[in-house]
Amino acid sequence: MTPEDFRKQGYALIDWIADYLEGVERFPVASTTAPGWVRDQLPAHPPTETEPFDAVLADLDRIVVPGLTHWQHPSFFAYFPANTSYPSILGDLATAGLGVNGMSWATSPACTEVETLMLDWMAELLGLPDRFRSDGPGGGVIQGSASEATLCAILAARQRATQGAVNVAGVPGNLVAYTTSQAHSSIEKGVRVAGVGTDNLHVVAHDAAFAMRPDALEAAIAEDRAAGLRPFFVCATAGTTSTTAFDPVPELAAICRREGIWLHVDAAHAGIAALCPELRWVNAGLDQVDSYCTNPHKWMGVNFDCDLFWVADRAALLGALSILPEYLRTAAGEAGAVIDYRDWQIPLGRRFRSLKLWFTLRCDGVAPIQSMIRDHVGWTQELAAWVAADDRFEIVAPHPLDLVCFAHRGGDEATDAMIAAANASGSAFFTRSVADGRSFVRVCVGGRMTERRHVEAAWALLQSTANTLP
Ligand code: PLP
Repeated sequence: MTPEDFRKQGYALIDWIADYLEGVERFPVASTTAPGWVRDQLPAHPPTETEPFDAVLADLDRIVVPGLTHWQHPSFFAYFPANTSYPSILGDLATAGLGVNGMSWATSPACTEVETLMLDWMAELLGLPDRFRSDGPGGGVIQGSASEATLCAILAARQRATQGAVNVAGVPGNLVAYTTSQAHSSIEKGVRVAGVGTDNLHVVAHDAAFAMRPDALEAAIAEDRAAGLRPFFVCATAGTTSTTAFDPVPELAAICRREGIWLHVDAAHAGIAALCPELRWVNAGLDQVDSYCTNPHKWMGVNFDCDLFWVADRAALLGALSILPEYLRTAAGEAGAVIDYRDWQIPLGRRFRSLKLWFTLRCDGVAPIQSMIRDHVGWTQELAAWVAADDRFEIVAPHPLDLVCFAHRGGDEATDAMIAAANASGSAFFTRSVADGRSFVRVCVGGRMTERRHVEAAWALLQSTANTLP
């Protein structure tokens, strides 16, 4: 492709993306293709001749789009959202165009310095405690996902608990971590990857609102210490995946500080609510925690991948993850004058991911995001009122933000049949979950293009499918 072709095809691709996003509502929300259909449309062997870009674009329409579940569809109410926005897409394009690997400050100072500033800007916009700012012992970094952030938190906690011995001697078998059954699966994956092991992840009891019980955590720690184990890490969740339950971080933080245990707070989805000052209760207790993460790639409209991970003291994280071969030595790094983000993450290489955040904050600004969040929370509360007024349904969990969870009083079979029928209609998409043995539908109102009428239609769809249940 010549530079001239690139210009021409680039304009065509931008048009294609805008057309896709503006017209996304015409597609069934979830893909209806059968397993293997997409692959069957494609040649079994790589091309031997080059093809015109138009042919590739045509195949996006013909093959890729039918194989998509449309996460940007305004009637996507499943999981948590993965919103995009136009400035963010352009920021990602600039990242690809620059093609830098920002593993060290010296490999592209702008990549490091814009990122550090974006983390400070976001800490300010979210009203996070100053201890996460980069001008003290703490600081933040962009990770690909909340899963990676949690793994880094576990590794830092492991480092602190063993005073670095883990790097030489391996993982002691008596380290124990704690979370609830409501925590995201990435916590268990993280303790597995960190060599701590699933058996050493102790599940702490939750209360009726699916939040961790501080008394149960205290009792588990005491019991484990008596058995010769070494509690080293607690993961609290601010907005669990199943129901947006909030673990009581202030109480948990008091316990962790007393016990010398690392407390990480996973606020992958709900943390972004703090962009609205009236929702800053989601930050409760963060002035006492060791690490925190939230994802602009969910609710905020900065397209995947963009997780923000902050630590109150970076020493343990760097101790866990920095290794300095000769070929990575730089004068600035040696002098301690700069941040080398390769020491804050698992991989060495890293993309210039902060551009999409910078573009979004500069070109759209925070006000439209705040107003979107307020709309989502308001419509969710309206939806919850409609559900509560229909005696066929029961709300199964508190719904403080943009997720409401409810079950059919007819039992799990009725709930599951309702979700399956509604999803099969193609006009909206919901996720089923289970908590304390009971099946329910999650309706998350989080799409950037969702309007109140889509929420009304989703409710009408669920009601009508419930009407047709056997
Ligand atoms: N933590 C929570 C509470 C989540 O809800 C999710 C995903 O929905 C994750 C972690 C994982 O996020 P990621 O996809 O960024 O790894």
